[in-house]
Amino acid sequence: MTEHNNPVRVVVIGGGYAGTLAANRLRQRADLDITLVNPRPHFVERIRLHQFAARTGDATIDYGTLLGDGIRLAVDSATRIDTATRTVRLASGRALDYDYVVHAVGSTAPPPPSVPDAAGLALPIGEFESARRLRARLDDLPADAPVTVVGGGLTGIETAAELAERGRRVTLVCGRGLAPTLSAPGRRYVAKWLARH
Ligand SMILES: Cc1cc2nc3c(=O)[nH]c(=O)nc-3n(C[C@H](O)[C@H](O)[C@H](O)COP(=O)(O)OP(=O)(O)OC[C@H]3O[C@@H](n4cnc5c(N)ncnc54)[C@H](O)[C@@H]3O)c2cc1C
Repeated sequence: MTEHNNPVRVVVIGGGYAGTLAANRLRQRADLDITLVNPRPHFVERIRLHQFAARTGDATIDYGTLLGDGIRLAVDSATRIDTATRTVRLASGRALDYDYVVHAVGSTAPPPPSVPDAAGLALPIGEFESARRLRARLDDLPADAPVTVVGGGLTGIETAAELAERGRRVTLVCGRGLAPTLSAPGRRYVAKWLARH
């Protein structure tokens, strides 16, 4: 980075794992003015969303316990990075001037499957708000109602396992086979565990 008389303004867009770590690491330089932009006032541990949905764990952490001193939190969404004026425009109408931007917005879950009868019944689990909707929907179901988890990758397996451990009747639908990223022994272990539960 170049030498500046004024603090160098860094805007970190996205307060997930990457953005939060980046903001904290950047504090090692005393000449930086760091603002973290995130739509929610709390950190969402995405890797715990299946536990949050199944009510076996929590998935939010107060930024106050994560962010180092001096990092400003703007609870807002970036809508545009205007490179001509060096500003990050926010949904609230505010704009943040920057010298550098860290773009750490993560990934977005795909929309629910386009199976006609599943419309309105299928809920994604990849984001906090949809996981919360799923949790509320599960709360409304009788304990023995069948639940189908679609997707035999690691997130689907974790979700199915968590729900099964809560006593739910779960069917896991795997398009390309169970846990394609695991080794053959790993897949066998997962299949046995799921069958047992
Ligand atoms: C149920 C589940 C289980 C998982 N389990 C594992 C696991 O066991 N191990 C593993 O390695 N990975 C796991 N993953 C994947 C892991 O969660 C992601 O790889 C990880 O969250 C990516 O981190 P990130 O910081 O890039 O993005 P994220 O954690 O998604 O953070 C991005 C942040 O940016 C914010 N944001 C988005 N758009 C804007 C905007 N325009 N303006 C401001 N902020 C914005 C988002 O709201 C969010 O807070 C799991 C995912 C899910 C859904």
